[in-house]
Order: sequence, then C-alpha cells, then structure tokens
Amino acid sequence: MDAKDRYYGGLEMDYKELLKRARSQLPSEILEHKRFEIPRPRSFVTGMRTILVNFKEMCDALNREPRHVLKFLSGEMATAATMQGTRANFQGRFGHDTFERLIERYVKEFVVCPICKRPDTKIVKERRFLFLICEACGAKSSIRPV
Ligand SMILES: [Zn+2]
Repeated sequence: MDAKDRYYGGLEMDYKELLKRARSQLPSEILEHKRFEIPRPRSFVTGMRTILVNFKEMCDALNREPRHVLKFLSGEMATAATMQGTRANFQGRFGHDTFERLIERYVKEFVVCPICKRPDTKIVKERRFLFLICEACGAKSSIRPV
C-alpha cells in the first residue's frame, strides 16, 4: 500500500509538515516508527450487512484492542457488530465514509494525547475508569467508556 492510499487521521497539517522536514534529518527506520498512518477503511455491502475488510489492520495501526474499536463503532453506528478473523461485520448498509468519519473520531478521542497531540498513547484501566496515558509527554487523561 503506498502513501496515497492512506490518510492521517485527525492530525494537523503542521504535524505532517514537521514530519516532512524531519525526514531529511532522520534515518528511515525511525521515521517509519514515528509516522502515524492509518489505512483507509475498505468495506463492502453484502445483503443487509457491511463487511469492513481491513478492520484488524486498522486496529493494529491504531495500536488498540480490536474489541475496543469494535465496541466503539457498533455503539456509534447503533448496530450489532461481530469480528470474523481479520474482518468486522456490521448489520445494516454503510458506506466507507462512515468508517472514515468514525475512525477519525476514535483517533481524536482514544488515541491522540489531548495535551501534546501525539499518538504514542495506551489505554489503562484503573478500578472502573479508563485513562489515556501518553508515552511522549506523560499526560494522563480520563476517557469515557465505549
Ligand atoms: Zn502527550
């Protein structure tokens, strides 16, 4: 998959600019690691269901548990969803623009640090509460349950 098939979910232009400028100064391995790319959702409708083909791949790029992402999508789309191998099945007919919009929201809410805007975060559960811990700046932000 090449660069034009991907999009930079929720990140600002100046971040991309920053990366472009950093490119000339960094070895390529570091660059790849620091780059935050989410594959475009690939989906199709079959009967009354919608299959998100590259669901697992997207979760891997987001560095999030597929169960968490699936619960979020199913809740926002107000429909039942199941995981089947690397795909996700949704009841009802949805365009891939739906997934694009929702993944962008997911990134803003559950991946990008609200303080430093970097995606190097993890979700930690403490008692019944969920927090977004930023590995770049150390910020700890509460997040809503999905
Ligand atoms: Zn941060």
